[in-house]
Amino acid sequence: MTTTTQRSTREWQAADAAHYLHPFTDFKSLAAKGTRVITRGDNIYLWDSEGQKILDGMSGLWCVNVGYGQQDLIDAATTQLKTLPFYNSFFQTTTPPAIELSELLAEVTPPQFQHVFFAGSGSEGNDTIVRMVRRYWDVLGQPQRKVIISRNNAYHGSTLAGGSLGGMSGIHAQGGVIPDIVHIEQPFFFEHGRQSRSFEDFGLEAASWLDRKITEIGADKVAAFIGEPVQGAGGVIVPPASYWPEIQRICDKHGVLLVSDEVICGFGRTGQWFGCETFGFRPDLMTFAKGVTSGYIPLGGVMVGERVARVLVDQGGEFNHGYTYSGHPVACAVALANIRFIQREGVVERVRNELGPYLAKRFAELNEHPLVGETQTCGMMGAVQLVKDKASRTVFDSSLEVGMVCRGHCFGNGLIMRAVGDRMIVAPPLVMTLAQVDEMIGLIHQCLDLTLADLKHRGWL
Ligand code: PMP
Repeated sequence: MTTTTQRSTREWQAADAAHYLHPFTDFKSLAAKGTRVITRGDNIYLWDSEGQKILDGMSGLWCVNVGYGQQDLIDAATTQLKTLPFYNSFFQTTTPPAIELSELLAEVTPPQFQHVFFAGSGSEGNDTIVRMVRRYWDVLGQPQRKVIISRNNAYHGSTLAGGSLGGMSGIHAQGGVIPDIVHIEQPFFFEHGRQSRSFEDFGLEAASWLDRKITEIGADKVAAFIGEPVQGAGGVIVPPASYWPEIQRICDKHGVLLVSDEVICGFGRTGQWFGCETFGFRPDLMTFAKGVTSGYIPLGGVMVGERVARVLVDQGGEFNHGYTYSGHPVACAVALANIRFIQREGVVERVRNELGPYLAKRFAELNEHPLVGETQTCGMMGAVQLVKDKASRTVFDSSLEVGMVCRGHCFGNGLIMRAVGDRMIVAPPLVMTLAQVDEMIGLIHQCLDLTLADLKHRGWL
């Protein structure tokens, strides 16, 4: 066997193309183009097999909240691997890391959450959500309450239930969807808010679509509403402050369970521990993953609020659901180290008071660039909407894939920034210095300039 350091980039690429099917990828075209081989990470930087240093503006995939190379997390995994690498929680058994993590999650999540159900990922967590909300209504003698309402352009994972909850037509088109999930329009002001008097008015209007949908279906058939506090994979779509409290009011009015998918927003990303705290609502259930371990090892799950726990725990009998890796001791040990690091270093407070406001200020300056139609930030997430004409906010023809052009310039210049259509997004690690924010903004500026020149050269502007 060849070891990691001995192969050339071309050799890695050839082996990758021959055997490795990548997620959300056109296999054939990637094999022809060749993958980029990432070999090392430290702090907020990555290195590829050619030795190029890259600023990771996406925290891996929205997950490496504490940055790469944190020794506490590495030590926690190593110690637990030596002590007990695995044991399950099925056989009326448990492990100390799973117990301690449950306790700590109850401490750092909003007060209604005293119980947790562990899964291996965000998608699995959302599968658990579907089964749990339906079980809740079954136990309460209302089995007809099955419908879960979600939003267009939401992302809730890629398993059959996660993909069905999500609102992405490309996913629905491949493999179908499970029944009794419906979607309303997203609170995306840039696209849907043109007619509204103001951003905040639009928030109320967008929330009213939920009320209308519940009324249309019949509240006695609706089990739950699910949403990401800020839509992440959909393009960092930050809703108006008026949106979530109104969604809460509507769910309460109809007795519908409210589910916050905190897979991206959880663990400090928005400047509070959880996005629901930033946006002022009180969910009954919360999905988490990613930032719970800073991505060092897979872990996800569902925080179960008292309303649901009192039914499932006190009256529910056996819940026929669980995963081999529910409460995996190594994953739980890493999560404990990660959360304790976030607590000890005051990471959440720093995002709220220093880093988030600074990112917001620097992102607002990008609005002056001729290609930028709007910017939005929330904590340590940011979006830059590329437009063809600034004054009229005219967008590019989507077939041109201008976002991908921009992304290419970012990748070529040592910055990982993601393109969602023509919306360029970042969600960097929460441990950046202000100088590193400046460095990232400088790179974004440079890449916008390169994109502008490139588009002119192509005759698209
Ligand atoms: N929910 C949200 C909000 C997500 O952003 C994601 C992943 N990006 C998921 C669920 C799915 O998580 P996973 O990829 O760990 O299954």
